[in-house]
Amino acid sequence: MPGEARLNAVRTTAGTTAAIGRGPWTGQGAFVIPGCVSSSAIFPARDLLAWYDRHRRRLPWRAEPGRTADPYQVWLSEIMLQQTTVAAVIPYYENFVSRFPTVEALARADLDEVLSLWAGLGYYARARNLHACAKAVVARGSFPRDLAGLQELPGIGAYTAAAVASIGFGIPAVPVDGNVERVTSRLFALTEPLPGGKRGIHTAAGQLGHDPDAMARPSDFAQALFDLGASVCTPTSPGCALCPWMEPCAARRLGLAAELPRRAPKKARPERHGVHFWLTDRDGNVLLRRRPASGLLGGMVELPGTSWREGRWPEAESMVRAPMAVAWQPAGQVQHGFTHFQLTIDLFAAQVASIRGDGFVHPRARLNEVALPSVMRKCVLKVEE
Ligand code: SF4
Repeated sequence: MPGEARLNAVRTTAGTTAAIGRGPWTGQGAFVIPGCVSSSAIFPARDLLAWYDRHRRRLPWRAEPGRTADPYQVWLSEIMLQQTTVAAVIPYYENFVSRFPTVEALARADLDEVLSLWAGLGYYARARNLHACAKAVVARGSFPRDLAGLQELPGIGAYTAAAVASIGFGIPAVPVDGNVERVTSRLFALTEPLPGGKRGIHTAAGQLGHDPDAMARPSDFAQALFDLGASVCTPTSPGCALCPWMEPCAARRLGLAAELPRRAPKKARPERHGVHFWLTDRDGNVLLRRRPASGLLGGMVELPGTSWREGRWPEAESMVRAPMAVAWQPAGQVQHGFTHFQLTIDLFAAQVASIRGDGFVHPRARLNEVALPSVMRKCVLKVEE
């Protein structure tokens, strides 16, 4: 029957009975009936927190149990973790805090040094915003202690503000990252595909944080949700038998756990093409140049080359853009995926007695000192194969 909802009674671990329904009018497949019982009663925070107290991950930016996290370290780790895995971030994080142990030290640093330490982590606008944010924090004296104030800082959006507020300051807020999105979509069996389904997921995640036990331990509650998603409610094979919310979880009951969250089909990424030149001299130097300060990979260092465009570069056309008119040899091809396009770079190499051309000459043995983005590191590895 159109508009009909199917209700499933759910007995929670707290002994409460709630109603979870499925109905076509929500667009989200399944939902908790408003006003019937609060979601925090269905998913008791104390069950998750008890699990967290036994199974929490030890991470370099985390405070030991019973200690308060340093907001600087929380903020730094959260910016680094965007679009990247914990394993990839740890060495970068440790380098950063050892070089810049405080927000004041980071604010005093040259942007160039920040970009060099960031090189390889990708999404370089984050590094520029990180530096700008450190300066803004030092200028105002400290990190703001509220969500609105945090979101006024460069590079801090709703997610990072909620993470710093809850973990660094103990302010009740639920930061919704990919892990929390997955856990929440499953707990409530929210089937509307992402990205359209985000709003419903974020609302439901916020409700989880209204539990008085969650509000009493906002920092632990946020990190418990992260850890549940990272170690139990994993993308393809959720370990429901180990989950503190196994019993009330709607997706588990409906047999949907591994399917959620659903995602709208991705559009194919457009392709772009470029040509870059590896020009060395007999003294072991290489010609480099700096990209414009704003835009993609802004302020980073690269091998001289063409722009990146949709059509391929015929060799004769690309040679007009070479830094010197010399005998260039093909030196391989590199593929690199950016968020919005797939890039193919054709490489050419040449050696000359003395380098001339726009840019700057740098010893090739010390390329680790310059802010080469991942795509350029791939180019260097390719020409040196
Ligand atoms: Fe995820 Fe399974 Fe726990 Fe549900 S019961 S939250 S699907 S691990």
